[in-house]
Amino acid sequence: MKTIGLIGGMSWESTVPYYRSINETVRELRGGLHSAKLVLVSVDFDEVERLQRTGDWDRAGLLLADCARRLESAGADFIVLCTNTMHKVAPAIDAAAGIPLFHIADPTAEAIRAQGLRRIGLLGTRFTMEQDFYRARLQQHGLEVLVPGEAGRALVHRVIYDELCQGKVLDASRDAYRAVIQELVDAGAEAVILGCTEIALLIGPADSPVPVFDTTALHARKAAEFALR
Ligand code: GLU
Repeated sequence: MKTIGLIGGMSWESTVPYYRSINETVRELRGGLHSAKLVLVSVDFDEVERLQRTGDWDRAGLLLADCARRLESAGADFIVLCTNTMHKVAPAIDAAAGIPLFHIADPTAEAIRAQGLRRIGLLGTRFTMEQDFYRARLQQHGLEVLVPGEAGRALVHRVIYDELCQGKVLDASRDAYRAVIQELVDAGAEAVILGCTEIALLIGPADSPVPVFDTTALHARKAAEFALR
């Protein structure tokens, strides 16, 4: 079994489900007392969020590159970055580490294509919804990506940072997310990507008229499968 290297804490609310889901997958596939071999480096999200907000992606890249090197020296065979947004600095991590980064968009896009879907709505932070680093990766898999309008993007982003990353799961925000999903479906989305690792804490399949693809669950499961291969 390979050792998984997790870079977590962004936020820790979504790192907890990674640990559970990876171990549940190993149990399902290996049975008995088997559990995942993994190493976790967890950051202080306040530091990372400041760098995001001020646009200092170079410093953010250095910070996560350092995490990657620490995982490598602790014996990890590959890296799982437990956030969609920070894949913006994936090139810095790739350059620093001698072990591969298991990119979150790849298992997500593969799961969508496996169901024959192509036109997808994307929910996430503003960085993920508006910038090219994530959308382009999905497009490379042949997906067409739709994002909410300005008001929807502002709402989705605010709920992530002000609520979900701080452990607040509010019914009013669930209703607001449902309305944003409906907006995406009305625009032609055949499915919706929960492209932020905290969103599944708030909504699930029952909140959407089209299938939802939870990046946290897909990333964790595929990482565990890869570790067992
Ligand atoms: N966990 C989130 C994501 O998947 C947002 C927090 C962050 O900016 O890293 O994008």
